[in-house]
Amino acid sequence: MQSSHQVLHDVFGFDQFRGAQESIVEHVVAGGDALVLMPTGAGKSLCYQIPSLIRRGVGVVVSPLIALMQDQVDALTQLDVKASFLNSSLDAATAQKVTSQLLAGDLDLIYVAPERLMNPGFLSILDRLNEGPGIALFAIDEAHCVSQWGHDFRPEYRQLTVLHERFPAVPRIALTATADAPTRAEIVERLSLESAHQFVSSFDRPNIRYRVLQKQNAKQQLEHFLDAEHPNDSGIIYCLSRRSVEDTAQWLQDRGWDAMPYHAGLSQEVRSANQKRFLREEGVIMVATVAFGMGIDKPNVRFVAHLDLPKSMEGYYQETGRAGRDGLPANAWMVYGLGDVVSLRQMVDSGEASEDRKRVERQKLNALLGFCESTDCRHQGILRYFGEAHPGNCGNCDNCLEPVETWNATHEVQKALSC
Ligand code: ADP
Ligand code: MG
Repeated sequence: MQSSHQVLHDVFGFDQFRGAQESIVEHVVAGGDALVLMPTGAGKSLCYQIPSLIRRGVGVVVSPLIALMQDQVDALTQLDVKASFLNSSLDAATAQKVTSQLLAGDLDLIYVAPERLMNPGFLSILDRLNEGPGIALFAIDEAHCVSQWGHDFRPEYRQLTVLHERFPAVPRIALTATADAPTRAEIVERLSLESAHQFVSSFDRPNIRYRVLQKQNAKQQLEHFLDAEHPNDSGIIYCLSRRSVEDTAQWLQDRGWDAMPYHAGLSQEVRSANQKRFLREEGVIMVATVAFGMGIDKPNVRFVAHLDLPKSMEGYYQETGRAGRDGLPANAWMVYGLGDVVSLRQMVDSGEASEDRKRVERQKLNALLGFCESTDCRHQGILRYFGEAHPGNCGNCDNCLEPVETWNATHEVQKALSC
């Protein structure tokens, strides 16, 4: 049997495992179940890709992100790993071809959308696979999708326990970057992972400097920040609406900044052209809605600016987390005002979601507000939300660098929330 180091080196071209990767790989190779909590960009994929290559049979990866499956499979194919995917984007003939390869034992990894997995036809294919070439493991990526409390609930994820009932001998590895305690508990319960080993990495991003400012004239504040700290850097500016994305990108362009818009209302061509420029060139600013960023792996994003409040701490953490993946100093800079709170609150209230879901969304927004108003260490505040301890006094956030007298906004916020 190949060692995990050999595979890391020979197939993926890396010299060293990062953080807990090695222990996770060893645990799964040995047939254990695992729940992996690691921040985005930390390297969760290798934790199931390497065991899939080492163990007999095919690694079956459940992923909700159809748009990213092609990218993942292309990247693996370039490394000579035999990978393919099955989802609704394939025509019947192609799906048939992939299925034949799978049953012939010609694949190391197969990515599948959760709805496909639950389809009785596919379950019987898995039966045949299990009796033939074998199933190396089940990887459940983005496992927080199983949780109502998570920010990305996918009902099909609830049925994934079928895999365990049908193939009890196949190890399972569930992975997520959403680490708050209620989500974690729900993942364990819903996926029957009570006996899985939990690998919990720190979610701290010590190189990110967090700052939260009162919104006055957002654009001017932004330009002041860019002029002073990022005259030539790559960065992302998040806005709530498509209109404010367009408006801010235009405003920056008019003032000589290399800024581009990105939102779901732009054509596919424009979006992918802008994304390519951002990834390949340096010093480009992407002004975007939250539609931008999933699966973006650019190490030297030097700043993430929020001109509007995100919807939750998870959103804030995920979006700001795109800064400084290379470990070098980076800024997470945000302006927020009570107007943001009111409009987000209205969006929740007037949405289509169930009352239960709306309650969750209001709680999440309130948690984020509490964070914004807090005068405590920001690194500590973020980690506390995710259930992790941090000693505070990070020396790398606004509150630690310039302690302010407690600003009592509670009354104002209460007023805004009650209207
Ligand atoms: P996640 O799923 O946790 O967000 P990925 O698995 O997509 O993260 O990995 C993020 C990036 O880190 C990828 O570009 C990957 O190649 C890289 N990476 C992962 N593990 C290592 C390692 N041990 N050494 C170097 N680069 C790594
Ligand atoms: Mg991932």
